[in-house]
Amino acid sequence: MADRFFDTPIEYLKGVGPQRAALFNKELGIFTFGDLLQHYPYRYEDRTRFYTIAELNEDMPAVQLIVTITRMEIAGTAGKKRLVALAEDPTGKMELVWFQGIKWFAERIRTGIQYVVFGTPVKYGGKYSIAHPEMEPVTPNTGKSGFLQPVYSLTEKLRAKHIDSKFIGKLQRELLSLAQGKIHETLPDYLRKKYNLPDKTTALLQIHFPDNHQLLASASRRLKFEELFYIQLRLLKMKRVRQEKSQGMILNNTSLLTEFYNRHLPFELTEAQKRVIREIYTDMKSGKQMNRLLQGDVGSGKTIVAFACMLIAAGSGAQSALMAPTEILAQQHFKNIRRLAEPLQLNVALLTGSVRKSERKKIHQQLEDGSLHILIGTHALLEENVQFNNLGLAVIDEQHRFGVAQRSRLWQKNKTMEPHILVMTATPIPRTLAMTLYGDLDVSVIDELPAGRKPVKTVHRFDSHRLAVFGFLREQMAAGRQVYIVYPLIEESEKTDLKHLMDGYESICRAFPDVHISIVHGRMTAEAKEFEMQRFVKGETRIMVATTVIEVGVDVPNATVMVIENAERFGLSQLHQLRGRVGRGAEQSYCILMTDYKLTADARKRIQTMVKTNNGFEIAEVDLELRGPGDLLGTRQSGMLDLLIADLGKDQQLLQQAREEALRLLEQDPQLIKPENQVVLHQIKLQKQSSTNWSRIS
Ligand code: ADP
Ligand code: MG
Repeated sequence: MADRFFDTPIEYLKGVGPQRAALFNKELGIFTFGDLLQHYPYRYEDRTRFYTIAELNEDMPAVQLIVTITRMEIAGTAGKKRLVALAEDPTGKMELVWFQGIKWFAERIRTGIQYVVFGTPVKYGGKYSIAHPEMEPVTPNTGKSGFLQPVYSLTEKLRAKHIDSKFIGKLQRELLSLAQGKIHETLPDYLRKKYNLPDKTTALLQIHFPDNHQLLASASRRLKFEELFYIQLRLLKMKRVRQEKSQGMILNNTSLLTEFYNRHLPFELTEAQKRVIREIYTDMKSGKQMNRLLQGDVGSGKTIVAFACMLIAAGSGAQSALMAPTEILAQQHFKNIRRLAEPLQLNVALLTGSVRKSERKKIHQQLEDGSLHILIGTHALLEENVQFNNLGLAVIDEQHRFGVAQRSRLWQKNKTMEPHILVMTATPIPRTLAMTLYGDLDVSVIDELPAGRKPVKTVHRFDSHRLAVFGFLREQMAAGRQVYIVYPLIEESEKTDLKHLMDGYESICRAFPDVHISIVHGRMTAEAKEFEMQRFVKGETRIMVATTVIEVGVDVPNATVMVIENAERFGLSQLHQLRGRVGRGAEQSYCILMTDYKLTADARKRIQTMVKTNNGFEIAEVDLELRGPGDLLGTRQSGMLDLLIADLGKDQQLLQQAREEALRLLEQDPQLIKPENQVVLHQIKLQKQSSTNWSRIS
């Protein structure tokens, strides 16, 4: 059977054998012919054009030049010797350098003749040089067979065994010739026509050995589309199955919510908040279990939405739970929700690690007899002995802090039926990422801030302007406002970071001798942190000097200035979260990003993005572009993002198309019985049976 061909263990490929096979297994996760074929080049060396010396610049990848060697010399002292060849073309002069194999090269390279040299130019003492270039004498055929040479990802261990890109390229050629006629088409004809995608055989050939840039681009598009299409198909299928099978509690009594809405609502809800509550209500009364992701930028008012849903649950006789990632946040939610719930005579409790045993016992008791309506807490909620009488709604705040497994423990808390799940996140997830990560969830978005909020004004200031910045802080505090000053604290450089923080704290104390100042950092005990936070919340201190421990959720409406020191060291989403700590009251708020003069290109882009926009979704898109999806939300462990070729940051349009097509297919031919969809059916079966990891998603 042809499909079995791709399951052939890699060791049977000519040139591999058991020892190299073991290395391929271990280092690259390549076990079969199919795995190797899917080990696509991650870039290509451009052998299609020649550069001149005058054209070189420092940002170039490896390039190709035609030069004449004018002189050779051995420089340096014993042990640190190097061979230097002076080379020139009509536009300039450069150097070629060897640190190893000096004798060998010195004997073989000739002055006075022309060579094609290939390598990465670096500027050294005002002159370009290439270390250990590839070299070939110019022949009449030079330049006639332009091609793009594949470069494969490798590890040090492989390199040590002389397995390099050239070697892998040779294996790929061998494999591709064996695979002639065995490669199946995996996309229906109508899709290939519609999106102008080459057939699979051509795509595989061109992705490894492109004839030109254009064919490479279309091969890559085709393989990306295929990958995204099958992922979306799988996720959408899962969602369908869940929707068909899953049973959910019917929670449809809105009397409590109506009472709250008509008599106790503290402010007018935004249209977005109302819409989202309706979406959730539709789920809760549907008889199917809700699995919904609620996205809303910092300050968009997710808490009251969650509370409204809890009222639907309570009105329908079910309990609710809200889990927050930190104690401070849980306490804050507890305070807010207890206040909102008070006029409705609902029983609300807080359960965290620091709740005393007697209190805990009472909570357990009330949970089990059903007299506790709403339980708020940290992951302490997940403990074995926390048992509900009738948990109808589980809300999880700031979900990226919790692992998937942790979350699912919360929805197993009910004996009879899984509760409805609402996952809230303030880290806006770009649509593309949400589609892939949460493709099987429903998504609601609060895309509107409460009226009257003034967008935070963000500026970039260099460290040398610190005096002026302090002057501004003084003005703000004279007007009665409070200020955050945040320092980075990264685990790897914790010691120096802590020193910066303490130095900064001292200089702030000196600059504002008459102001009460709080300091909070990760090395303090939870109680000490909480104590300082409370002082700041109550307005007893005017400046809060802190590390990112204040990143998430804390609400001090009177704080109007967020100063971020070493802003270049923060990620975009972190900067945005921090900025979200101000702008919560009616006053104009400010975010001041402090940096040194020297910034990397990425850091500059991050700062510029922050200055340019307040829109969390726009920021998330840039973040995704800069960092790739792996780091976002700590989703790396989810495995979902381990894509072979597609890039969720760059291939958003393709993903959108793949999703639409997968959706259409499931609507029009859910059983895959139409003749034109047989290739899809076949591919899905293959993915299930084959030991080749066709999609890398288990
Ligand atoms: P987040 O979405 O970041 O969790 P919160 O729920 O903490 O936001 O709300 C931020 C602040 O805005 C809170 O002080 C809350 O009371 C207030 N708020 C929420 N919705 C509205 C609204 N519709 N109008 C006015 N203020 C609101
Ligand atoms: Mg919140």
